[in-house]
Amino acid sequence: MSGSLFQYSRAADINAAVTQGSRAGAVFLAGGTDMLQLWKAGTIAPEAVVDISRLPLDDVAYADGKLSLGAMARLSDVAAHLEVTRSHPLIADAILASASGQIRNMATVGGNLLQRTRCPYFRSDGLACNKRIAGSGCGALSGENRQAALFGASPSCVATHASDLAVVLAALDAEVEVFGAAGPRRFPLSDLYRLPGVTPERETNMVSGELITVIHVEGASRFAARATYLKVRDRASFEFAVVSVAAALRVENGVIVEARLAAGGVAPLPWRLTGSEAALVGRAPDAQAISAAGNLAVADARPLAHNAFKIDLLRNAVIRALQTIGYQP
Ligand code: SF4
Repeated sequence: MSGSLFQYSRAADINAAVTQGSRAGAVFLAGGTDMLQLWKAGTIAPEAVVDISRLPLDDVAYADGKLSLGAMARLSDVAAHLEVTRSHPLIADAILASASGQIRNMATVGGNLLQRTRCPYFRSDGLACNKRIAGSGCGALSGENRQAALFGASPSCVATHASDLAVVLAALDAEVEVFGAAGPRRFPLSDLYRLPGVTPERETNMVSGELITVIHVEGASRFAARATYLKVRDRASFEFAVVSVAAALRVENGVIVEARLAAGGVAPLPWRLTGSEAALVGRAPDAQAISAAGNLAVADARPLAHNAFKIDLLRNAVIRALQTIGYQP
């Protein structure tokens, strides 16, 4: 079934995109960096492909402390935008760590957030995978699960989410604006993704035909001086995260007054480390506070046969990230 035929159309405007994208078997095409891979591999076989790449949704704007990222904005344009590098360096850092220059030139913000898991069973035609074929089983559960989740998994699916940008946006309390047949709606990024439960094939809370239009990040420039994205991967060149940490602190008079921590590569969605955040507030960013935050980050980890090494990796990544931004003057 790889490379199966489909009907191609280019949406003239957003309403046409929603109408065409609502048809059974239709998928959207933005930058194509993930969707076309999946199609070529036979992981997906859409009946219709709706090209939304030319919709005027690529604006990146910053005013009054509010950053907005158009869903069709290319990752390279976002990472190079003056206000992103100046006021939201965490976003630029995550994007630059996320892919090669060629991919960043094509990939879009919306597509990055909606990319599918890198679980090898999902991307290999013929292997058991509930996410690809509902009810077929989860090959990773008792098979190769080195990359699998520590948090939020279910017996139906133990896959992780692959987006670096989503981890940073989760830490910054970003909001997502979508548009569909019922019009626009806006909600926290944390409500975009679903845990697998017994329906791992349903990855988001978007409905058929809806597309992301804008990502909103408000008031996050207050973290610009103390923020970092630490990505641990199997090789130094462009690779998906084994574990990643987005960390941001606000420190006043030597005391942490606000902390944001989110982890990637360890859950089916960007995983906020709220216990660690709470433990940091009110303390000096010293070795004891940072060590406690690292231990709390992994307190609820549930490893499988081959991914327990991620527990130490995550604890140490949290500590390293907090040292980087906590120890600076
Ligand atoms: Fe499929 Fe999820 Fe299991 Fe991977 S972990 S094989 S994506 S069901």
